[in-house]
Amino acid sequence: MKKSAVLALAAALSATACGFRVPSEPIATQPDLRIVRLNVASANVYIVEQAGTRLMIDAGNPGDEAEYERLMREHDIAPESIDALLLTHGHADHAGTARYFQDTYGMEVIGGAGDQEMIHGGDAKICPTSFLARVIGWSRSGITIPPFDLDMALEPRPAPPLSLQEIGMPGVVWPWPGHTDGSVVTVIGEHAFVGDLIRGGILDPTEPNTHFFMCDLEENRERIRELLTLPGITTWHPGHFGPLAVDDVRAYLED
Ligand SMILES: [Zn+2]
Repeated sequence: MKKSAVLALAAALSATACGFRVPSEPIATQPDLRIVRLNVASANVYIVEQAGTRLMIDAGNPGDEAEYERLMREHDIAPESIDALLLTHGHADHAGTARYFQDTYGMEVIGGAGDQEMIHGGDAKICPTSFLARVIGWSRSGITIPPFDLDMALEPRPAPPLSLQEIGMPGVVWPWPGHTDGSVVTVIGEHAFVGDLIRGGILDPTEPNTHFFMCDLEENRERIRELLTLPGITTWHPGHFGPLAVDDVRAYLED
């Protein structure tokens, strides 16, 4: 199959999945907490608002800056009002617009120290977990991100987690290596933002699925199991599709 045909297939899959199944919308609205998911090309960006603070989690693909800004404004979120940008990891579909938001709005960028080298253009090793993943990996080969320095770099385990009180928000960022060395998981109330630890389904976004790219599947299951032991979490928000109910994640692990 020609690369253009594969790209068209991948784009069609993405459009079907994100256009009809994963809308950009508020996914939690409580008196003291609002979470808005902004979806561009199947890459989720979350804006979390709590205690007068706005946190952006992940930054999508390079080139999608204007589309994320448009979606922010559609949900009455001025980009300049966002206090910080937290990256679940340094892959191009999560850190792609970070340099732009850092430069344009002065957002402080937080991420795992283990991914800083990748963000500077180092090797981003990926291991496809299916035929579709191989196609996606091939269609994305050559995509690079404008490099930048993390303003706050979370040290790897066994370093302690980072309290989001540093930016005025109740919540904790944990080093959660596996998908990449610098992957992190952020817990805010009953919500966990898990990056590419797991993903939702293409046809049913709420169905837990093994992520497209994972080099050690046993370790991945161990990391998922480990996160399930943290108390008080009901919902996982992955980088692609979702959200996932923790009971569904437990059932997925038992399969
Ligand atoms: Zn990734």
